[in-house]
Amino acid sequence: LFERFSARLKAQVGPEVYASWFGRLKLHSISKSVVRLSVPTTFLKSWINNRYLDQITTIFQAEDSEILKVEILVRTASRAARPTTEVRAAPQVDVPAAPAPRRSGPREIGQIATFPVQPQPAAPVAQSSARNAAPGPLFGSPLDSRYTFDTFVEGPSNRVALAAARTIAEAGASAVRFNPLFIHSGVGLGKTHLLQAIANAAVGSSRMPRVVYLTAEYFMWRFATAIRDNDALTLKESLRNIDLLIIDDMQFLQGKMIQNEFCHLLNMLLDSAKQVVVAADRAPWELESLDPRVRSRLQGGVAIEMEIPDYEMRFEMLKRRLEMARQDDPALDIPDEILSHVARNVANSGRELEGAFNQLIFRRSFEPELSIERVDELLAHLVGAGEAKRVRIEDIQRIVARHYNVSRQELVSNRRTRVIVKPRQIAMYLSKTLTPRSFPEIGRRFGGRDHTTVLHAVRKIEELISEDTKLSHEIELLKRLINENNA
Ligand code: ADP
Ligand code: MG
Repeated sequence: LFERFSARLKAQVGPEVYASWFGRLKLHSISKSVVRLSVPTTFLKSWINNRYLDQITTIFQAEDSEILKVEILVRTASRAARPTTEVRAAPQVDVPAAPAPRRSGPREIGQIATFPVQPQPAAPVAQSSARNAAPGPLFGSPLDSRYTFDTFVEGPSNRVALAAARTIAEAGASAVRFNPLFIHSGVGLGKTHLLQAIANAAVGSSRMPRVVYLTAEYFMWRFATAIRDNDALTLKESLRNIDLLIIDDMQFLQGKMIQNEFCHLLNMLLDSAKQVVVAADRAPWELESLDPRVRSRLQGGVAIEMEIPDYEMRFEMLKRRLEMARQDDPALDIPDEILSHVARNVANSGRELEGAFNQLIFRRSFEPELSIERVDELLAHLVGAGEAKRVRIEDIQRIVARHYNVSRQELVSNRRTRVIVKPRQIAMYLSKTLTPRSFPEIGRRFGGRDHTTVLHAVRKIEELISEDTKLSHEIELLKRLINENNA
């Protein structure tokens, strides 16, 4: 199974990408419904998790429909296995093989390896050839050429973020009005797509030729490697002269030394009016693990939240994906009726929608007459997950209140007696872990409390859970009650 999987993945991503990221992927174990794969480093794990997990899952599911889930583990025995520790010392940091040279790259800029734009068979031809003709000096994490403004679906949930992103891409280095621009949202709602759309647009323009797009993890890895190799100075030198810095998944930036470096870079760029764009899964003030100086600089710009796309947007995303797929295979078609059904039922994120779509077109190739019932069967894990995840804060409050024998009114009241404070904190914690709501939003729903109160509650309960097994069981029970209530 694993060999068939590897061959398929290689065919889909191309041998260069495969060698860079999947060369050291191994099979760890297979149970009835869960496949576990392992990689040597945390960096690779999150890289693959963030960018390829859906694709990997779809391939496995196509091989064996019993498989529901794929997990990536880090196979190093000790320290590297814990994702929450400080930044790992350089020798543990993975150094993926750079993709083999192609005509348009990679080149060396200073000491930074440049990566070619990832080969993407589904890329619209006109755009990718335009880019290949005049590629700007781009380095950092690889860009996906499908992630452009053209392929980004606009709607009420992302209109403001999109407008800001476009302004930056069009106005070039002079768009200091949004500096830094900070985009945040739950997972799979289009942050990476939007950031790369800016990068892809800027790379092709003459106004901001020197663009750096990096995930925070890639930044850490690059600096850790440079420090190990006594090369940090050259790296910093080469980052001085850029026009646009884009950092994705900011919540992963860790480690004192690295944050310090990042802080210098940020100050230097902002002070010389160079554009900075950052994305994270939470608002700047919620990035607790960040150096306070970095956090405050990030708060000095504009923060925009993206929300869950509505039905029309989801339908449109599926339509566009189909169009793209049809460029490769004109015979491919999926009736609107089915797309609409999927858009209605897979409601959490662009990522799940993408997974659903991949599965659909794959199935379609040997089951040309897909019925709605069959689609439901195939997507049961996504649809089910979607339903279960639409937990309401009101239900959490009700269930927690009942469990601790207090009233819901008391839970959201100002009372601070112990019997109420603890259940209140638990309810806040569950609201944060079971719903996509932000800290400020949860604060509002708990009697207009400040977001820092919620933050404090979540941290407190997390701490308690790790040392108090009785409480952790209690919370598991509450989660079950809430999920059952929702089933
Ligand atoms: P995030 O970085 O917020 O986790 P991504 O940008 O990786 O989310 O989006 C996940 C998938 O959903 C990607 O394939 C992306 O192209 C797609 N997607 C999300 N939002 C949109 C949108 N508004 N228009 C088109 N595709 C979208
Ligand atoms: Mg992302």
